[in-house]
Formats: sequence, C-alpha cells, structure tokens
Amino acid sequence: MEIQREQMNVVIVGHVDHGKSTLVGRLLADTGSLPDGKLEAVKAQCKRNAKPFEYAFLLDALKDEQAQGITIDTARSFFKSSKRDYIIIDAPGHIEFLKNMISGAARAEAAILLIDAHEGIKENSKRHGYMMRFLGIKNIAVCVNKMDLVNYDQKVFEQIKTDYTKFLKEIDLEPKSFIPIAAFHGDNMISSSLNMPWYKGGSVLDVLDRFEKAPSKDLLPFRMPVQDIYKFTEEGDERRIVAGKIECGTIKVGDSVVFLPSGKKNRIKSIEYFNGPTRTEASAGQSIGFTYDTEIYIRPGEILCKVAEKLPHVSNKFRANIFWMGKQPLIKGKTYKLKIATQQVPVIVAEIIHVLNAAELASSQKPHVDRHEVGEIIFETLKPIAFDVVTDIAETGRFVLVDNYEIAGGGIILSPVFDSDSSLNQQIKKRDYGWERSQITPQLRAQKYQHKSAFIVVAGKIDTGKQRISKALEEALFNLEKNVYFLGISNRLVLASQDSKDKILGKYDALVHLGELAHLMTDAGLILITSVTDIDQYELDMLKKLNSPNRTLVVCVGEDTRFTPESIDLALVENEESDVAVRKIVDLLVKAVVLDPEYEI
Ligand code: GDP
Repeated sequence: MEIQREQMNVVIVGHVDHGKSTLVGRLLADTGSLPDGKLEAVKAQCKRNAKPFEYAFLLDALKDEQAQGITIDTARSFFKSSKRDYIIIDAPGHIEFLKNMISGAARAEAAILLIDAHEGIKENSKRHGYMMRFLGIKNIAVCVNKMDLVNYDQKVFEQIKTDYTKFLKEIDLEPKSFIPIAAFHGDNMISSSLNMPWYKGGSVLDVLDRFEKAPSKDLLPFRMPVQDIYKFTEEGDERRIVAGKIECGTIKVGDSVVFLPSGKKNRIKSIEYFNGPTRTEASAGQSIGFTYDTEIYIRPGEILCKVAEKLPHVSNKFRANIFWMGKQPLIKGKTYKLKIATQQVPVIVAEIIHVLNAAELASSQKPHVDRHEVGEIIFETLKPIAFDVVTDIAETGRFVLVDNYEIAGGGIILSPVFDSDSSLNQQIKKRDYGWERSQITPQLRAQKYQHKSAFIVVAGKIDTGKQRISKALEEALFNLEKNVYFLGISNRLVLASQDSKDKILGKYDALVHLGELAHLMTDAGLILITSVTDIDQYELDMLKKLNSPNRTLVVCVGEDTRFTPESIDLALVENEESDVAVRKIVDLLVKAVVLDPEYEI
C-alpha cells in the first residue's frame, strides 16, 4: 500500500517577468517531476522554430495537456522533494489570488516571493509582501532572481535584502529566508550554487523543506457548522439529524457537545453517514449527521463544538481585516450580509480603523474602503455569532461580505471585541438628538386621549391566529374610544422586502423600518398593534430598542421557543378565541398602565 505523502501548497508571486514561470519550470525539471521527455520536446520545438527556449513555454505545454486531459497525474503542478510533495497554487493576479484565498478556494501554506536582482524592488513586490501579511502566510521565502545579470554580486543581493526586510518589518512580516538565485540557470534551486559561494543559506528546495506544516486539522478543536436539520421520515420517529461538514477536530459517540452561539448542550448519540454504515467516530473533512441524547431545537448556522475543548468566541462585535472588491465602496454605518461558515447575518460596519492602499501601503483614515483596498474594520452583527480568530482556526475565522447579491469582500477575524455600546444605540441616540420635541408632552396626550401610548407586538409562529386577534383587539379598543391603529403590513413588509432584496438584509431593513414607524406612532400617542411572524429574541429586542423610550408590549401566540420568558408580557395559546384573547390583552394594558382605570375604560 502506498503511504500518503505529505503535501504543501505553495504560491509563487512576483512582479511580471521577474521569473515566476522559470522558477516553477526549473523546480519541476530539476526535481524530476516532469513527464518523461517533456523538457526535451519543448526545447526541440523551440529550436525548430528558432525561438529561444523559455520555461514559460514548458508550463504552457503542460497546461494544454492538462486541459485536454492527457496527463492524468498533473491535475495540479507539483514537484517532489524527498520530504514531501509541493503543489503550486495558481495566482493569476494578486486580486484574483486574494479573492481565492479569502474565499478558501485557494489555500497557500507557503509563499515564494520573487524579486528581480537587476530590476530591484517594485511596487508589486511591496504589494505581495502586504498580501502575505494580510493572509497570515508565515512560511515565506524571498528569492532574489536573475543573479547572473548582476554577476552574482553579493552586494546587490544584500542591498535588496536590507531594503526589502526594512519594508516587510514595517508591515510586521518576517520572511524565513532570502535566497539569491538564477532560476533560468538552476543556481541555488535544488542545490548550492558554485557561482555564489558567499551564500550559505540553502537552496530553494532546502528552504521549502524546512517550512513547518500547520498541525493537521484533526488535532484542532472540533468545529462542525450546522448545514441542515433532517427529520427521520418514519411515522412517529421524532428524532432529528443535525448535519454538516466537520471543518476540524474529531468526535465520537458519547461526547458532550455544545451548539454556539445558542449555548445549547447535548450528547452525541449516534453518528450517521449518508449511504454508509453508522460509525462511532468521525473527523475533519467528513460530511456527516448526528443524533442526540435529548431532542433540541437548533437552526442551521450554529457551530457544533465539544464542551471539553477550546470553544469559539461568541460575540456580536469583532475586529477583522478585509479585502474589498465591491463596485460600491464599503461604507461606515452601512449594513451588509456576513457569511461565516454556515451562519448568515446582517452586519454593520461599526468602525473603520484604517484603510490601506495595497499599492502604496499608505494608511489613511476615511469612512469608506474603496475597491481593491484593504481595511481594518470593527464589525457588529445584530445577533451574536460564533467564530474563531483566523490564526487559531481558519475555517471558522474567515468570512465573506455580500453587497447587492455579490460577494464584495472577504475577511479574516483578528479578535473579538467586547463593548456594550451598539451601532443601534448610537443610531437611536443620533435620531433622538436631532429630534425637535413637541411642546405637547406624552402626559398631555395621555390625558387628552384617555390612555398612554404603546406598541403591541403580536408575535409567534405562522398560522396561530395573530392577525385575527390583532384586528379584534383594534376593534375592541376603538369601541372603547381609544386611539388605536392596527398596522397590517408588518408581515407583508417583511415578506415583500425578502422578495426584492436579499432575504436576510431585507428582513433586517424591514424590522428597522417597523421599529422607527412604531416609535413615530407611539410618540404621537397612539396604541399601535402589529403582528409579526418568524422573528427571534434579538429582532424583538431591536424593535423594542427602536421604539424606546416608548412602551412596547409583547403578546406571544402559541409556543415560540425563540423568546425568553422575560421578554414576553403575555402568552396566549395557539388560535386562542378572539374575545378571550382581547380580554387578556386589555387586562395586560390595564396592568401595564397603558389603560388606566382612571381613564374610564
Ligand atoms: P514571469 O512573468 O514572472 O513568469 O517571468 P518568466 O519566468 O516568464 O521570466 C521572464 C524572463 O526572465 C524570461 O525571458 C526568462 O527567461 C527570464 N529569466 C528568468 N529567470 C532568469 C534568470 O535567472 N536569469 C536570466 N538572465 N533571465 C531569467
């Protein structure tokens, strides 16, 4: 049986013509990783056409073969050392590469940065350095190429090394090695060059072999973002399978687990493979389902973790580096959709700490991040999310931002942020600050209208009689000569905005509208009634906050486990009779002194 050899993904970056293709071609050739006769065939063809041979031609020829499916073994270019196989990651352009790395389409574990000894450090060389820093790639070798063109002069090499090291230090990056090479001639590629006896640091291949691989995913704490929840289809079988792909770590039957951010705990009862026999253990990379000791209510997006291991952070604020690709700039205060693992939530750009132009590395303070710029940002989500810092666990520390249905940026999480002031609070403060208050005080209105104002949210699951009850309540209060209004569009508002806009952002916007509208109407002294389906505790809290300091009362129809008992003012059974429901709500209004007995109900 063949033993699985270790692999390492390497990206090779450098300014155009500094020798990337040559370095790759040379490594493939010198390590004996090319198909038999390939090099000779390409050289012979060049000779026939009276063209000087280029390693780029060799790579083109290999690519053609791959495209035609001729060489089965070289689906990706790779070369071997005695230690491991190196897979070369294609980096067509730095923007493309960043996009791929951030989205996880490419995973470079090591990088070779090429600088032409003759041309020296270019803007692009700086950009590439920054890119490595941004992506957190630590295994970096800088190759100073075309040393033959500077007579293998140590001074030229040392000068480039000094200048580039200084620059990299500014961005907090320290390469593992600087290697003087002449890729075309094979100097210092896989063995020490006789042309540069002054250099003792090892060949490109030696340096690569010295790079350490990150610990295997199996050794990291367990993380499985929940993708889906399936119910067993058998009659009466109430069990649910929570399914997803294990990003890292291992798990076995009997392990105590916790879902985050909800914090619900359980124990693994069985591990279910699709179309496969059940097993007692599972590990990173497997798509899998679990059943649990006790039935729990879980939604996709949560991350399943092991209680005994280091858990992800749970917070609604975090600091991240992003690379922006959107047509419109990323703007402070604007809401985007954040996708991290299987979680999708609205996220507000709370603070732009600084923006870096990747070309000039000029740091600037501005309230937006333009296309192809890098920003250090504090993000805030409406609900807490579970995440890791990217250097701990990349899979749950990397996210993308969606603007207008398109992936407009990607980022990596640097740290959680814990502070209590939220963007919503600030928005409300700003709104209140700009509000010229009427001379007619809420008390005067209450006396005149014979009641105080309130926003009554009738919440609960779909088809539980919420609208019927809301309308009956409006009628009853109206007949009691109260200033009451049933806002019958809130459900529709939420649903309609889901059609026209991104579902998650649409709902968020609709709820902000509803909250602001409620604030306006309750400020005018009204009792506003509305019914909303499918909102959770955080969304409810947001409505309350937006309506504050005015009163919000929550009536929950039917059981809804997403609300904490304290946040509900009155619980009604599903499809409660209208008159019973109305009586109970009126009692609540009296108790809450919205309807004061003094006002003669
Ligand atoms: P890329 O654009 O970075 O992929 O650069 P290439 O690998 O295509 O190289 C650009 C040019 O530099 C080609 O003409 C190469 O033959 C030449 N070149 C690459 N390495 C060396 C070297 O070590 N010495 C010299 N003299 N030329 C080199």
